[in-house]
Amino acid sequence: MVTKELGRTGVLLPEIGLGTWHYHGGPSPLRKGLEAGALFIDTAESYGTEAIVGEAVRGMRDRVFIATKVSPQNFRQEDLKRSADTSLKKLGIDSIDLFQLHEPNPSIPIEETMGAMAGLVDAGKVRYIGVSNFSVGQLEKAQKALDNRQIVSNQVRYSLIDRTIEAGLLQYCQEHRVTVIAYSPLGREFERIRDCDPTGVIDELARMTGKSPAQIVINWCLCKDGVVAIPKGNSTEHILENCGASDWRLNPEQLALLNSRIQYRRRSRFGMVVRQLMPGPLQSLAVRAVKALPRGLRRRVQ
Ligand code: NAP
Repeated sequence: MVTKELGRTGVLLPEIGLGTWHYHGGPSPLRKGLEAGALFIDTAESYGTEAIVGEAVRGMRDRVFIATKVSPQNFRQEDLKRSADTSLKKLGIDSIDLFQLHEPNPSIPIEETMGAMAGLVDAGKVRYIGVSNFSVGQLEKAQKALDNRQIVSNQVRYSLIDRTIEAGLLQYCQEHRVTVIAYSPLGREFERIRDCDPTGVIDELARMTGKSPAQIVINWCLCKDGVVAIPKGNSTEHILENCGASDWRLNPEQLALLNSRIQYRRRSRFGMVVRQLMPGPLQSLAVRAVKALPRGLRRRVQ
């Protein structure tokens, strides 16, 4: 398994981690993934999978890098400390390797949240501080609030079909050595990737390389500097297949084929703000309403 440095920490992170959102496979498939070299698991207090992760790493905890997340409603100092303690207990460990703010919460001062994060590091309960779904501006503000510690990672959606972060965030993270942890690298459902591949280029490359379609798609993410990916699989079969997306690289011609033939989107800034501020069911309504505006007006809103 290829590793990449986490931020500027010197810690080498496997470039494939095990995602656990909506994970229902029990400890065994995760364990098989760990044994195959994906010694990095991502969970969150909101996923309900911390206890299963704890079970999966039992007996090999010191070899596994465990990342979890605190939900935005718990960003007040005392709430955040409580969340960390609860996560530690559920995971059955003494220290969280990477504690991430799950998404920005503009209603709580970031200085308070980052002060509490730094306190957890000082107390030995957290090794490294990360964020998730942060824009460049939010990342800069959060880093400023942290004084002398580095935000080592930003976990964001990134895949062949959603290349929003290429509008600036990816480059910023690469330049500042903030590791990008790509979530939903398989498009959240593999069929969504297929829907964006009208010419069948993924199958073509799979035949050419002897790799599977999912491995092609994950490897595309891993070809980017400073990017690791956390696909989620429910079965041992899927998890092991996904681990096989490491230890090789698509060549420049193959990458160019994917770049030119897969249909992808970049969310607008408006779309991103809507996603952060509105409850789920209202998000697509708001985006559709803006799309229906006359072009000139739409440009100003977006
Ligand atoms: P994903 O990993 O892009 O896709 C998961 C889907 O792909 C599942 O339906 C899975 O099926 C399928 N799959 C897995 N391996 C496959 C294979 N080899 N071939 C074909 N299909 C395969 O989606 P995700 O769960 O949204 O993202 C991954 C992880 O990122 C999450 O689990 C979570 O840890 C993290 N995440 C973070 C955030 C955040 O806000 N920070 C948001 C979303 C996700 P099976 O389940 O049947 O195996």
